[in-house]
Amino acid sequence: MYEKGLSAVCEKCGETTTVKFQDKLHDAGKTETFFTCEHCNYHYTTHVTDKRVRLWQEEKDQLRDADQRHNMQLRINKRMERLKDELING
Ligand SMILES: [Zn+2]
Repeated sequence: MYEKGLSAVCEKCGETTTVKFQDKLHDAGKTETFFTCEHCNYHYTTHVTDKRVRLWQEEKDQLRDADQRHNMQLRINKRMERLKDELING
């Protein structure tokens, strides 16, 4: 997926689509942010958060130390990757 501004080239149909992010609530407090191709309607999950991720994001914002913020961001990214993987692959 190639993104430029708020448009992206769809991997499925090769057309350029406008990216309009939408949120969808799932079980266990998970929130999926996604957009769909306006040409072929293919569903792209951009990221998934849950309560813990949102808590960590709040905690990260409180941290003053750049290294600590960086480490927290890595932890958040890792969990979001896993949540996304679980959502897509069941
Ligand atoms: Zn498409």
